[in-house]
Amino acid sequence: MIKRNRCSLCKSKAFIFLKYAGIKLCKEHFTIYFINRMAKTIKKYQMIKPNEKVLIGVSGGKDSIAMLHALNEILKDTNELIAVHIDLGINEYSTESREIFKQICSKIGIKNKIVSIKKRYGFTIEEAIKRVKRPPCSICGLIKRRILNEYAIELGVDKIATGHTLDDEVTYLLINYIDGKIDMLLKRKPILPRIHRKLVARIKPLYEISDLETQIYCLINNLKYVEKPCPYAEDSPTLKIKKIIMQLEEIRPGTKLSLLRNFTNKIHIALERYYLEKTNEKINECIKCGYPTSQKVCAFCKLKEKIQS
Ligand code: SF4
Ligand code: ZN
Ligand code: ZN
Repeated sequence: MIKRNRCSLCKSKAFIFLKYAGIKLCKEHFTIYFINRMAKTIKKYQMIKPNEKVLIGVSGGKDSIAMLHALNEILKDTNELIAVHIDLGINEYSTESREIFKQICSKIGIKNKIVSIKKRYGFTIEEAIKRVKRPPCSICGLIKRRILNEYAIELGVDKIATGHTLDDEVTYLLINYIDGKIDMLLKRKPILPRIHRKLVARIKPLYEISDLETQIYCLINNLKYVEKPCPYAEDSPTLKIKKIIMQLEEIRPGTKLSLLRNFTNKIHIALERYYLEKTNEKINECIKCGYPTSQKVCAFCKLKEKIQS
């Protein structure tokens, strides 16, 4: 927050200086700027067409809360929207997340649903983590992706919107790059189209918006979000790398955005051409659930079996 500075657009007191864009904005103009940027991202990457039904995944953290609020502003008159929260069953963290989700949905008057992992699969994330030796976030991520997709199919939605921010995308890009995971790099896109009847298209409206901006948006618009991190977040290597990227941005403002845009507009296109021409990996359907997989049994079914054994 800055003192004595003026908004670049209206000359009233500025609330935030966005170094990467070189502009200072008051509260009102920051909200407009945020919504406009999200609308531009949606248009640029052709994420949503009018009349499409969109499921908005909301964890209760600042990113998904800001996304839900802004998406509702942009799409409420043209699209059918439903906010969905997954109850992970991680003690107080999940209880608080659920309450915050209910509050924001009633505040903005959006259709909503809470889906419980325990009710659907018979175990919570806590129980799954105790039973399987694997990094907690990789277990949780796999289960969350599947349950959201299953529910999206049941609802017959066209798109699933997730709260992945610019910081998340750059973090995963670096991790996948360091590990040389070309298949994962190829999946790092603002929109993942429907390539199989059982996979609903996914979009990332916050693709070019940072964590700091979602936090400021929540603050200015009085949107409550879960501030206490998930108990498993602390040990997550992903979060540690994210912090290093934030330091990079401090040293050289604009780094995150140029890294992501250069990847999306140049490197991804080149990789796709080169790699897809060279590989002809056959996509099977999992013999247990029918989801696409390169193996006989998909990663989700294997994980579920381990948890339930
Ligand atoms: Fe799940 Fe990890 Fe996020 Fe916690 S920090 S909600 S375990 S992905
Ligand atoms: Zn202003
Ligand atoms: Zn399967």
